[in-house]
Amino acid sequence: MKNSKEPLPAPSPLLEVKRVSKWYGKGEGRFQALDDVNLRIEKGETVAIVGKSGSGKSTLMHLLALLDEPDEGAIVVEGTEATSLSVKDVNRLRNRRFGFVFQQFFLTAGTSVLENVTLPLKIAGVAPAERRKRGLMALERFGLQEKARNKASDLSGGQKQRVVLTRALVGEPDVIFADEPTGNLDSMTGRVVEDELFALNRERGITLVIVTHDEDLAARCGRKIHVRDGRIVAGAVAA
Ligand code: ADP
Ligand code: MG
Repeated sequence: MKNSKEPLPAPSPLLEVKRVSKWYGKGEGRFQALDDVNLRIEKGETVAIVGKSGSGKSTLMHLLALLDEPDEGAIVVEGTEATSLSVKDVNRLRNRRFGFVFQQFFLTAGTSVLENVTLPLKIAGVAPAERRKRGLMALERFGLQEKARNKASDLSGGQKQRVVLTRALVGEPDVIFADEPTGNLDSMTGRVVEDELFALNRERGITLVIVTHDEDLAARCGRKIHVRDGRIVAGAVAA
């Protein structure tokens, strides 16, 4: 019989960055945005990525979220190297498992809140009736069900950010990537959006990876990854 005290092999981390470097531009203007970065993020963690403007935070997050590819090194998702997957499989993985709260992933202004929220489900091929049901349930969570039919452009800044959050969670992701999620909000509204993010982590075990300049928000996270000049200078591994 197998010795039951034998330790189980350690599970692969949810996300792993292995010796990653990234350059932008060519020739004279070539600029190294990330320099030999190593990082592990475990399932259920809340991680803040902090550092000065231009230090490489967004670049790192885009690579982690498989929105871009490193020039050197590898991004590994639960033991699978992203580069070993087809483009189609990467897109499917991103769509099914990742949620995004990015300022540049705007809502479509002229379209309804519900349509905006259910876009990831549409991309995933979920049928219209099911999309509607799940979209309304997700909106209800953030008290936005009454806004389902409104045009996204008719909402306040805070409501818009909550719609973005609703869209990020509608596909029941394992990870939410947020880039300055409270950057354009007043402190009260920002706090509400923050509370919602951390509630998703507590209640559903959703891993949070948050780029932020906000010290208070960073302090609420379980770990702070400090990026300076394209290198991680603190917090690369969970304590
Ligand atoms: P942060 O999010 O920390 O402000 P970024 O990751 O956005 O930093 O950028 C890191 C560095 O790479 C900056 O110097 C920025 O100017 C440069 N950079 C970012 N994106 C591009 C790009 N598409 N082309 C050229 N340089 C870029
Ligand atoms: Mg940035």
